[in-house]
Amino acid sequence: MTFRTRFAPSPTGPLHLGHAYSALLAQQMAARHGGEFLLRVEDIDQSRARRAWEAQIYDDLRWLGLTWPMPVMRQSDRLATYHDALDHLWAAGLLYRCDCNRRDIAETLSAPQEGAPLHGPDGLIYPGTCRTKHPRTGPRPQDHALRLDMGEATSAMTLRPYVETGLKPGEIAPDDPVRTIGDIVLARRDMGTSYHLSVVVDDAAQQITDVVRGVDLAAATAIHVILQQLLELPTPRYHHHALIRDEAGKRLAKRDDARSLATYRAEGRTPDGIRAMIGLSPSDLTG
Ligand code: GLU
Repeated sequence: MTFRTRFAPSPTGPLHLGHAYSALLAQQMAARHGGEFLLRVEDIDQSRARRAWEAQIYDDLRWLGLTWPMPVMRQSDRLATYHDALDHLWAAGLLYRCDCNRRDIAETLSAPQEGAPLHGPDGLIYPGTCRTKHPRTGPRPQDHALRLDMGEATSAMTLRPYVETGLKPGEIAPDDPVRTIGDIVLARRDMGTSYHLSVVVDDAAQQITDVVRGVDLAAATAIHVILQQLLELPTPRYHHHALIRDEAGKRLAKRDDARSLATYRAEGRTPDGIRAMIGLSPSDLTG
């Protein structure tokens, strides 16, 4: 199968050196495998996504020397597809409506059970307050958060492993997802979908064979592989790379405008200068 990878930024702020590294590494790997590099705009969070940031992303990536096939997939165009996937899980009885906010959850968890981990890939592990509160029959509730019943979803399933080719290479199987992940939100009330659901549906739709992304998303991969199994979608290989940090060792964030590619461009840096800063030589781009 042809190697296909993607860079999937959210247009909620400027791209920084970490994004440049991820995108250039993905394109370099695609070039080395004679494969394809795709771009996907992850703009489901309409309260934070901006068209101006999206335009800046295209501009910065072109400046770095990247190219990608058109048209670019935009998640805001694909809500109907995400709803189909949610309908499928709802019909299987694996989703339930949840009315809790963050504070409710934190309060319920304020007396934790000994030994139980409190945090999963999505933050606090949900204590299950709403699991049996609302019926799971009838039409799928709209305008409410929907959680995956992880126990119900995985109890009769042999968990599928995935191949990691990045920092800790090998075959990895999700480990005890009820305890370590819990009932994650798959449809947010304000979005009607979620990062986890959309990313899995779209990687399959774009026939991605190799996901290249930062190690900050490695813990979320167990969720993605479980969703792929539930939705009968293929599981790509995953390549999680180290994060680019600033001189103090702090992870770069979108709000660090001083580190944005736009700022470096304005200071007169060249694309080769950026590659050198993040440890990729110019020749790395084509292999
Ligand atoms: N949209 C995500 C981000 O900007 C990346 C998603 C992914 O690569 O799976 O952090």
